Amino acid sequence: LAKNAGKNRYQIFDPEIDRKAQAHRKELELLRHALANGEFVLYYQPKVDLESGDIIGAEALIRWHHPERGLLLPGEFLPLLHGSELENAVDEWVINTALAQASAWHDIGLSMHVSVNVSAGYLLAPTFCADLARALQRHGNVPPAHLELEVLETAAIADMEQAVVVLQRCRQLGVHFALDDFGTGYSSLTYLRKLPVDTLKIDQSFVRDMLNDADDLGIVEGVIQLATVFGRQVIAEGVETLQHGALLRRLGCRVVQGYGIARPLAADAFPQWCQQWQADAAWHTLTVSS
Ligand code: C2E
Ligand code: MG
Ligand code: MG
Ligand code: MG
Repeated sequence: LAKNAGKNRYQIFDPEIDRKAQAHRKELELLRHALANGEFVLYYQPKVDLESGDIIGAEALIRWHHPERGLLLPGEFLPLLHGSELENAVDEWVINTALAQASAWHDIGLSMHVSVNVSAGYLLAPTFCADLARALQRHGNVPPAHLELEVLETAAIADMEQAVVVLQRCRQLGVHFALDDFGTGYSSLTYLRKLPVDTLKIDQSFVRDMLNDADDLGIVEGVIQLATVFGRQVIAEGVETLQHGALLRRLGCRVVQGYGIARPLAADAFPQWCQQWQADAAWHTLTVSS
C-alpha cells in the first residue's frame, strides 16, 4: 500500500480517514479562534517550602473558557494541538501571559516565581530561545531567574542532544528548568547527568500512592536521593494531604505542590490565597514540628 501511494496517491480514498482529518482541521480552527479571541486563561497553583512555610512560586496551568462547554482542562484540548504550529503559538502565549502576571504581582509587592509548561515541539523549535529572550525583555521587571520552564522528562530524553543544546542556550538567559513528571520516563542516570536542569519534579502518581504502596515510596525516596547526588532541587507534586507533606519532609523533600495545599487558582484569587496561607495553622504546625 505504501509503495503504491507514491504513484497513485489519490486512488486510495478512505472516507473514514478523510472524515477524521476534516474533524481535526475543524478542531484546530476552533482552537486558533480561541487563542485569537482570548478564550484561554491561566490558573496558578502555589508551590510552598515546608521548611520555612514560604510560598516560593506558582505553576501556570492553562484552561479554555469554551463559549458553550464552560471551563475546559488541558487534557481536553492540548492533545489536539500536539505537533501543530498552533501548539507553539499557545506555548508562547502562555509564557508571555505568565510573565505579565508575575510582573503585575511584582508591582503589588508579591514577588513570585512562575513555572510554565513547555511542549517538546516548542522547546525544540528553532525560534524558542529568541522568543523567550523577547518575552523576558518585554517584562523587564521580572528577573529571568523567576521564570522556570517545566519540560516533560519523556520529551527531554526523546531528542537528548538537541534538548541539551537548547537548555544550555536558554539557561544563559537566566531562566531555570525542571523535569516534569520525573520517574515516568525511564531516563538513565547518564541522561540525568547530561541534562542541565535545576529541578526534578517527582510525578504525582508516585507521591499520591506512596503512603500505601511500598514501590511508589521507594521511587519517591530514590528521586530525592538522586536529586541530592546530582545537586539538583526536588519538588513533589500531587501532595493531597498533610500526611503526604509530613512524610515528604521527613524524606528530605522541602518543596511541595498539590490539592492539599491549594487547587490551581484563578489569577485574581491568588494574592488573597497567599494571605490566607500565612494563617493556615495545620500546614504551619508541619513547618515547625516533625
Ligand atoms: P503537569 O504539568 O504535571 O501539572 C500538574 C497537573 O496535576 C495539573 O493538571 C494540576 O491541576 C494537577 N494537580 C495538581 N495537584 C494535584 C493533586 O494534588 N492531585 C491531583 N490529582 N492532581 C493535581 P492540569 O491543569 O489538568 O494539567 C494537566 C497537564 O497539562 C499538565 O501536567 C501539563 O503537562 C499540561 N499543561 C497544563 N498547562 C499547560 C500549558 O500551559 N502548556 C503546556 N504545554 N502544557 C500544559
Ligand atoms: Mg508541570
Ligand atoms: Mg507533572
Ligand atoms: Mg503531568
